Amino acid sequence: MLVRLIYASRSSRSITPDLIESILAPSRRHNLESGVTGVLCVCHGDVFLQVLEGAREEVNLLYGKILHDERHSQVTLLHYEEVEQRRFSSWRMGRVDLDKLNVGIILKYSEKPILDPFAISGRVALALLEELIEGAAIVGGC
Ligand code: FAD
Repeated sequence: MLVRLIYASRSSRSITPDLIESILAPSRRHNLESGVTGVLCVCHGDVFLQVLEGAREEVNLLYGKILHDERHSQVTLLHYEEVEQRRFSSWRMGRVDLDKLNVGIILKYSEKPILDPFAISGRVALALLEELIEGAAIVGGC
């Protein structure tokens, strides 16, 4: 049984390349073992948007750890569904910097040119993430 989970959260401190790397490097190792795949987006204002896919038990276990991780707060569940197949199977944990995207992509899904993941629905978050695959905007973590 595969599930997909999307959440938003606010970083406890400024998001720097070092902070991202300190989260992603161990995540990719762990995700390889647990079979979890997905993408971590960094949004303006030190906000994370992450999609996780994998076995229900593994995704639920990981989300439980993520909820208690002190490196971020306001962890907000946007979307959770059972799926027949993954959309993000190519990434142990890919990364996207939303500030570096063409503003037209953001405006397609957002009222303002800066995306606020806390203000969008889970369906909209998924549509945006799917568009990032098509635009080859996801880097690393293969
Ligand atoms: P432990 O290493 O014992 O972690 C226990 C706690 O220590 C953590 O919850 C955290 O609060 C803290 N901690 C761990 N490492 C650091 C560090 N370098 N600096 C400061 N505090 C630290 N994990 C994954 O496996 N896969 C993911 O895709 C994933 N995505 C994440 C996305 C975000 C935005 C964040 C903030 C964390 C993510 N994590 C991910 C990490 C996850 O929250 C857990 O830290 C990780 O799964 C290990 O948990 P643990 O309890 O087994 O291990």
